[in-house]
Amino acid sequence: MLTVNAIAAPSATEPLVRTTIERRDLGPRDVLIEISYAGICHSDIHTVRGEWGAVPYPLTVGHEIVGHVTEVGADVTRHAVGDRVGVGCMVNSCRECANCRAGQEQYCLQGNVGTYASVDRDGTVTQGGYSTHVVVDEDFVLRVPHAIPHEAVAPLLCAGITTYSPLAHWKAGPGTKVAVVGMGGLGHMAVKIAVAMGAEVTVLSQTLGKKDDGLRFGAEDYQATSDPATFEALANTFDLIINTVSASIDVGAYLGLLRLDGTMVNVGAPPEPLPVRVFSLFNNRRSFAGSSIGGIAETQRMLEFCAEHGIAPEVEVVDADAVNDAYERVLSSDVRYRFVIDIDSLR
Ligand SMILES: [Zn+2]
Ligand SMILES: [Zn+2]
Repeated sequence: MLTVNAIAAPSATEPLVRTTIERRDLGPRDVLIEISYAGICHSDIHTVRGEWGAVPYPLTVGHEIVGHVTEVGADVTRHAVGDRVGVGCMVNSCRECANCRAGQEQYCLQGNVGTYASVDRDGTVTQGGYSTHVVVDEDFVLRVPHAIPHEAVAPLLCAGITTYSPLAHWKAGPGTKVAVVGMGGLGHMAVKIAVAMGAEVTVLSQTLGKKDDGLRFGAEDYQATSDPATFEALANTFDLIINTVSASIDVGAYLGLLRLDGTMVNVGAPPEPLPVRVFSLFNNRRSFAGSSIGGIAETQRMLEFCAEHGIAPEVEVVDADAVNDAYERVLSSDVRYRFVIDIDSLR
């Protein structure tokens, strides 16, 4: 066992504190990663506060991880000491079910092993990236292209792939019109990626407060959803709507913005059910869909796509001791657009 510095939640109601956690001894196919930066995802906050169900405490979260390989197991072939690598939202899956065989490990029929708060195949509870080191099976470790700035890599492993995967699956590209609902950590990446894919992008945000940023990221239009006129002006317009908002919205109003064969894909997760009137799907043969992160091969393609197109998340780097404050700022949407923890501050 390797004992490493970390930040953990002692319970659902207490602030995160510095502590130590244990990493397993390197198995033959494991990679030891010295972590440089870990992103703060809204899911981390929901999880540590028990809002998505009971979790085992103390718990270290973090599923946007970048660092360097410092040791490899005897049978590792895909990674070498010194490589810059990333780890996202999952660290294992059954590898045998139809979905795993199709390269869609995120949809593993046995349930993928989450990077934190999951039971790993050795029976231990996984602990996330707010720590100095992590041990991960080589198949769930991503290679990070040189072109992406080091401090900006981490959020690609959750926010990046969560938006890339549906944009690729529903074929955003030249000639398609894409609306991105919400301009937070996920939304700003959806804009950048959809623009790089060649789509014409409109941001739909509650207010026009981040309009300058949206246009700077390449959006052609930016409209406020607090203004009912927006929904009239943009009726029957979009091929694809990526909804990144994790609060309840008026689904029918958004479905009305889809043109023929348009699809609204949800990647944000409100805790309560969203009511959908089936009649609003009949017009224009619309689809209402969901999408969860992406497979490992697709995540690798996403990293290469971002390097090739020179796109990366906008990040604000914070020290380990600022994580509790950062959580409050995430909850009040006061971040442009993703916090990353400088893990050097934990050493
Ligand atoms: Zn996440
Ligand atoms: Zn599986």
